[in-house]
Amino acid sequence: MNTKIRNQIDLQAEIQEHGFNLVTCGRCGDPFLHRTSEVTLECPHCEFESDPSDFPDLFYEGLEVSEVYNKKPSAGDILVCINPCKMDSGEETLTIKKEYKIKSFRKKEFSITDDYNDTHWFGLDKDDKNTYWKTFFRLK
Ligand SMILES: [Zn+2]
Repeated sequence: MNTKIRNQIDLQAEIQEHGFNLVTCGRCGDPFLHRTSEVTLECPHCEFESDPSDFPDLFYEGLEVSEVYNKKPSAGDILVCINPCKMDSGEETLTIKKEYKIKSFRKKEFSITDDYNDTHWFGLDKDDKNTYWKTFFRLK
């Protein structure tokens, strides 16, 4: 278990007890704060407006033991999308909460097939721009 992440989860729960929440945008992935009483949320970064369920908590129960903090994905793993990943054209090519299976690996990258049947590569390096870590996928 990752105790530092565990601590963040506890702090997030404490924030929620006071009527606020810290979430990540389901479209652009950037974090923002909102009141838990709000029924519709709007991302201040990209103006995406939707139901709170489209804005995952930044830290949530179970994250500390989830694979994302413990190991890199391997071939055949099923990943759950947490960010729809815009292409250069601005089109979203992945669907939040939809499952994608890792197709193949190459040096420090793996591929999945997106909603348009195109192959998409994600870096395994935490600093990579198009990275898997915390940004697009969470291991199921
Ligand atoms: Zn956004």
